[in-house]
Amino acid sequence: MREPVPLIAGNWKMNGLASSAAEAKAIAEGIGGTRARVAVCPPAILTHRISEALADSPVIVGGQDAHWDDAGAFTGDISAEMLADAGAKLVILGHSERRQGYRETDEVVRRKVLAALRAGLEPLVCVGETLEEHDAGQAHAVVTRQVRGSLPPELKGTPFAIGYEPVWAIGTGRTPTCGQIEQIHRAIRDTLVDIFGEDGASVPILYGGSVKPSNAAEILHTAEVGGALVGGASLKADEFLEIVRAL
Ligand code: PGA
Repeated sequence: MREPVPLIAGNWKMNGLASSAAEAKAIAEGIGGTRARVAVCPPAILTHRISEALADSPVIVGGQDAHWDDAGAFTGDISAEMLADAGAKLVILGHSERRQGYRETDEVVRRKVLAALRAGLEPLVCVGETLEEHDAGQAHAVVTRQVRGSLPPELKGTPFAIGYEPVWAIGTGRTPTCGQIEQIHRAIRDTLVDIFGEDGASVPILYGGSVKPSNAAEILHTAEVGGALVGGASLKADEFLEIVRAL
């Protein structure tokens, strides 16, 4: 059974300008000999520029979303193929800010995963419960339902990753205890193995939600945590690098 290779991904969200290429370069220069794969996910319009800035480095560029269709009359949207064409290797899909702000259902996320696969992008599929669901003791049920609903069987044998991001921990400074993270990650692992058999054992399960330099080591060394999806703390190269080094 293959161990998951850890992945640490920075989600810049709607932040960054052309000048952010310097920040990306600083990340590439600072990652040293980490055993993790490191990715930065800038806004789509910067994909090409950041990919060029990182061309000679092992740092991967990712998108933050992509359409479920390959092309056509979808004003304002970006296809997975466009991201790949601009240099992206992976794409975040089903982030809670998309699920909540754009009403993306598991079915929509599943179709987006298929579009990513057609474009040769590695999907990083996000799941996570809201505060109400957390308080009602439904985290486990919600997250496993999202995993089952968002992952098509076509993922079997292709690289992909899961991001567990409790909605109430995103950008709030609040995080679950490491015990809670481990419990949910184990439930996700069991679900992955149930769906994909032994392949499910090597899928990295990232934790996301208020990961910062001061809590990164503890979180990254929690059982079943295969990396981190970092929002706010990924915007400054030095903070992001501290998280990478915490592994
Ligand atoms: P945060 O965001 O690190 O700012 O909490 C994480 C995410 O939404 O991916």
